[in-house]
Amino acid sequence: MDRITVTELEGRTLLTRTGGYLDGYDYTLNPYVGCVFGCHYCYVRAMPVARFHAGEWGTYVDVKRTVERRLDRELAAARRRGSVRIFMSSATDPYQPMEARFRVTRSVLDALIRQPEAFDFLFIQTRSPLVTADLERIRALGDKALVSITVETDLDDVRKRFSPAAPPIPLRLRALYTLREAGIRTQAAVAPVLPMSDDFGRRLADVVDDVVIDSLFTGDGANGRRSRSFRLEERYTDEERTVWWDGCPDQRAYERIARYFPKEHIFLSRDGFLPPSLRQTDS
Ligand code: SF4
Repeated sequence: MDRITVTELEGRTLLTRTGGYLDGYDYTLNPYVGCVFGCHYCYVRAMPVARFHAGEWGTYVDVKRTVERRLDRELAAARRRGSVRIFMSSATDPYQPMEARFRVTRSVLDALIRQPEAFDFLFIQTRSPLVTADLERIRALGDKALVSITVETDLDDVRKRFSPAAPPIPLRLRALYTLREAGIRTQAAVAPVLPMSDDFGRRLADVVDDVVIDSLFTGDGANGRRSRSFRLEERYTDEERTVWWDGCPDQRAYERIARYFPKEHIFLSRDGFLPPSLRQTDS
């Protein structure tokens, strides 16, 4: 991996008004700017937050400091305006390795625990088993929190081709199991769908009750244009490309996963990233 540049930022806004793909939410919350997982398919690298940053995507992290005091004020102001449903995070991973050092995400959870009346829902989206370090804090948020862990494939050699710096798949599956056993609402996000084994559905069913499926074409926020611009097809073997790029990858993933999950526990694309109360088929 390239050398990582870390910059500490003071006084940055945490809650950002949202809409569009995330229109089930009122705010996004990105504890960091940049993400060292640097997934090759990451659509954020094509967004202004990355294009106008001096560093190459995946090689920098800007750390938002003094989060708690600022978030207390922002939460109180947001509450005065109305509902406060938060998506964390849309443009970074809140549990990337730097979290073990700076604990910005943990400070966010502490602020929410301190002011439970100030928010309605928190969606935590990550690829990292580091989320289990905050298990007790997340549990303290009860039904107002959901942890969604990305598991794009069960084949770690495939994962290494598409997101070599992201945590290994077995660690993510174990994290899902740990959180579910602790009574925390969880889901596996098979997003984006990558080449997978026939057994993927069974492996997921061992550790999680709900699954969301999204593809590189439906989930990049640009009907597949961003994914195509990343030349991702070159990362597939010829055989994989036929099935998992040229075919209907989300449909194929659905067929495999549906063997092991009731259909009301499988969510598709944007629906699976909404707060549960807003989903079409809420379990
Ligand atoms: S973990 Fe998420 S934010 Fe980070 S590079 Fe991968 S897709 Fe992008």
